[in-house]
Amino acid sequence: MLGQKRVLLAAPRGYCAGVDRAVIAVEKALEHYGAPVYVRKQIVHNIHVVTELEKKGAIFVDEVDEVPEGSHIVFSAHGVSPAVVNAASDRGLLAIDATCPLVTKVHREAVRFARDDFEILLIGHEGHEEVEGTAGEAPDHVTLVGSPDEVANIEVRDPEKVVWLSQTTLSVDETMETVRRLRERFPQLQDPPSDDICYATQNRQVAIKKVATDADLVIVVGSANSSNSVRLVEVALEYGAKAAYRVDYSSEIRQEWLDGVQTVGVTSGASVPEELVREVLQDLADAGYGTVDEVKTAEEDLMFSLPKELRKDLAGNRDERALGGRATRD
Ligand code: SF4
Repeated sequence: MLGQKRVLLAAPRGYCAGVDRAVIAVEKALEHYGAPVYVRKQIVHNIHVVTELEKKGAIFVDEVDEVPEGSHIVFSAHGVSPAVVNAASDRGLLAIDATCPLVTKVHREAVRFARDDFEILLIGHEGHEEVEGTAGEAPDHVTLVGSPDEVANIEVRDPEKVVWLSQTTLSVDETMETVRRLRERFPQLQDPPSDDICYATQNRQVAIKKVATDADLVIVVGSANSSNSVRLVEVALEYGAKAAYRVDYSSEIRQEWLDGVQTVGVTSGASVPEELVREVLQDLADAGYGTVDEVKTAEEDLMFSLPKELRKDLAGNRDERALGGRATRD
């Protein structure tokens, strides 16, 4: 009906396989070893998830030297450099590596290209934990490229031996523009063996592009330090949304955002539990946006096994879900 207020709900949205696995790893570690379990950095970049795990006994630290010797420590989904792994080992910590397997894949690429003496142009955001971990695999071979505009100033030792890799949670379009400019400067630039921007990041961007073209307003549920969530706001604006905002919680939605708005697009980043989206939908329904149409652009069914250290300990304890070998919720 013309003039009817409605919500376009993007799908896929929310939890990806790597986040699901990392969060369950902390929950299982707490159940199996007992609190406290230490976690280096936020296990995933979502304040709600971190707060809930803290209530269950997880203690989040910045570095391993804050953790008492002999304790269990979980490495976050964003991955760690070999220096961090070694520091944890030197301290006698029992590490559970919840690095997303798709981040580990990029680490392996970095190691391999460094071994073959390539200069690695790593497209990503300075200071992001994932970038620090990947660069830490081959610090002498990695040059960070933060944006298309930085390409003009990049210097390489040998323009015949350069490869680009990337952070997993970037804007696909912006990354392709960065690569285009890099290739203009370095025609011999090699591509990664497969996409580094992960399936979840790509799928969420494709879905919000479709929603954004019809939306007066897009609301992205996700935290400020969540790279893929922030990218969703940018992509929504690029693809036609008249306005787009990121919120951690529904309570952050401002009344004036809805002034004159007929169609609201809603999505969430890869580290966001669905309950937070449901709260947004409930508040929008209360504001008259009770009609919800899902815009689905892909099916996702990828799941990852729990970290091997945890699987081994749980198997010793005859934990059936661990023996099943999948990070499932039941
Ligand atoms: S966003 Fe992608 S790389 Fe990051 S945890 Fe999820 S699946 Fe893994």
